[in-house]
Amino acid sequence: MKKTGFICDEKYFWHDTGNGALFMPPGGYIETDVHSENPATKRRFKNLLEVSGLMDQLTQIKPRAATVDEIKFYHTENYINKVKELSDAGFGDAGELALVGKGSYEIALLSAGGAITAVEAVVNGDVDNAYALTRPPGHHAEADLGMGFCLFNNVAIAAKYARNVLGLERVLILDWDVHHGNGTESAFYEDPNVLFISLHQERNFPPGRGNVEDIGKGDGLGRTVNIPLPAGTGNAGYLHALEEIVGPIADQFKPELILISAGQDPGMFDPLARMMVTAEGFRQMTRFMLDLADKHCGGKLVACHEGGYSAAYVPFCSLAIVEELSGIRTDVEDPFAKALTELPTDELFDIQKDYVNKVKEVQSAYWNLAIKA
Ligand SMILES: [Zn+2]
Repeated sequence: MKKTGFICDEKYFWHDTGNGALFMPPGGYIETDVHSENPATKRRFKNLLEVSGLMDQLTQIKPRAATVDEIKFYHTENYINKVKELSDAGFGDAGELALVGKGSYEIALLSAGGAITAVEAVVNGDVDNAYALTRPPGHHAEADLGMGFCLFNNVAIAAKYARNVLGLERVLILDWDVHHGNGTESAFYEDPNVLFISLHQERNFPPGRGNVEDIGKGDGLGRTVNIPLPAGTGNAGYLHALEEIVGPIADQFKPELILISAGQDPGMFDPLARMMVTAEGFRQMTRFMLDLADKHCGGKLVACHEGGYSAAYVPFCSLAIVEELSGIRTDVEDPFAKALTELPTDELFDIQKDYVNKVKEVQSAYWNLAIKA
């Protein structure tokens, strides 16, 4: 059993993205529904932690707000001011599909602060590992532009905090959100000390980002590893990519801290992607990353919530992650598992191996990676 920190704040659920339908604003011929980035998935995850009894066994840590100086570890002053102005005014878009509601600025500071709080607790040894259920998410946010529901880049800021303030040398960020973590990639594109690895559905969002050939620049060459996977990839394809690429590279990089951008939108029922990972798959991916953390950095691992838009399934996927982090199994079963037995989520296909081999070919200039037929 591990001591697992859980970081959340009621205010996270109050970030208001307004009405919409998926990610489209109301209007035209689209009947108004709920916006994808609404509080339901995350609140229901928190509620499942409560009713399963797992919450009582976690170390709950209240997040503090990030300071503006900490947000400036990555974001420009102009952009920070813009988010504040839109938030004070009551509504607006901080870039591309990055909606700001009344008070979202303060909540985004608290969200970035949640990631920092988690990193601090783990690095200081208050807990073994931690899950930060933060909202709004962060991994699409660029230095001067909000994007894809993200305002401030929580994980990038927390990694920079680990480097700048806590004095860590090497941080590994694994982004398994189904969309490409473009903002985090940009933050460390020329930085040799932060290794950014993204697993994502190819050609999903944002357009043109996350290509295999995007490998970093200057001193950061080989410190960005993009692993695009084809639509339909399930547990076996994701684990194959972890075993064949993430494991060997991490063994050579030797991180002092592992951060996971934990978007549960590779999940089977996600409306904004086409992957087939199950709750059991998220459990196995978490186990894999914990083993790496145990091997290299005394188990120091922080998972920070990103996307995930199935209000029915995200709670079960996320619960499995926290169960694995804490080493505590509740009696909650994935209620969907029985209905999915015919789907080939645990089958590895040649096309998925080909995608992984392509990454190995490109990255083998920087890492020792055995290419298998
Ligand atoms: Zn996503």
